[in-house]
Amino acid sequence: MSSRPAIDLHTHSTASDGTLGPAELVRAAADAGLDVVAITDHDTTGGWEAAVRALPSGLTLVRGAEISCRWHGVEPAVPLHLLAYLFDPEEPELAAELTRVRAAREVRGERIVELLRADGVDISWPEIMAAAGGGTVGRPHIAAALIRAGLVATTTEAFGADWLGQRYRLPKEDIDVFRAVSLVRAAGGVPVFAHPRATRRGRIVPDELIAELAAAGLAGLEADHEDHSPAEAAQVRGLAAELGLLVTGSSDFHGTHKTVRLGAHTTDPEAYERIVAASSGVIEVASG
Ligand code: AMP
Ligand code: ZN
Ligand code: FE
Ligand code: FE
Repeated sequence: MSSRPAIDLHTHSTASDGTLGPAELVRAAADAGLDVVAITDHDTTGGWEAAVRALPSGLTLVRGAEISCRWHGVEPAVPLHLLAYLFDPEEPELAAELTRVRAAREVRGERIVELLRADGVDISWPEIMAAAGGGTVGRPHIAAALIRAGLVATTTEAFGADWLGQRYRLPKEDIDVFRAVSLVRAAGGVPVFAHPRATRRGRIVPDELIAELAAAGLAGLEADHEDHSPAEAAQVRGLAAELGLLVTGSSDFHGTHKTVRLGAHTTDPEAYERIVAASSGVIEVASG
């Protein structure tokens, strides 16, 4: 490898709300010129096996997940996302929490659809579940149904205040973020706070909370992400330096559910090596 490797540590497949299957995802990652890609579906490791099996030669796969969390330090509690890398998917407590969150997402999704139907929106929950194909269900699946029904043109429009962004928004039953950090560490994994300063997505947490999470085992912060402005990404890098945390950059690729391309943002090899070194080794990176 002559140039610095291209490393994208945050992508979604059809195991959650991406639109490429795990096998298609790793092939697309290789086609995009990536050397390392992480599969980080929401609240599931369901795409790992198919991704490993399809791994093209020359591509390294980091198995991970993006865990739906909540910080209860303010009222109402703030939702946030924790990326978890190279953890043991069979660690019972963490696995049970992920199963619980996935089940709660189905209850919540059906309720959102009921609210829409009560207002005369003709979309159906069984059809949305079928389209999700057994993957973790999320609002992008409901957005896709709204697009199919001709009610909105794009996923972005479906996430507007008139639709899933506010009017028909219901909270998820997430995992307390301190519990998630400790469960990921107990499972030998490495927790990284996803898009921590993405004010355009909603409320964010204070620096003090990030400092507490760092003391509790958080390993890193995702700085380069399409939902961060350049100033926000710079703030994240500054905070990480202060707290001794590593920083990552990634696309948060969702296939056609988002416009971002694989490799749109990338992670420095040094940060990637720190993640691998910090994991217990129960789950190793996989090489094609
Ligand atoms: P949920 O997990 O069901 O709350 O849905 C949140 C998911 O929708 C996240 O994975 C985001 O990537 C995606 N999302 C959030 N806002 C938008 C948006 N404005 N456009 C497209 N996708 C979005
Ligand atoms: Zn998503
Ligand atoms: Fe996220
Ligand atoms: Fe994501």
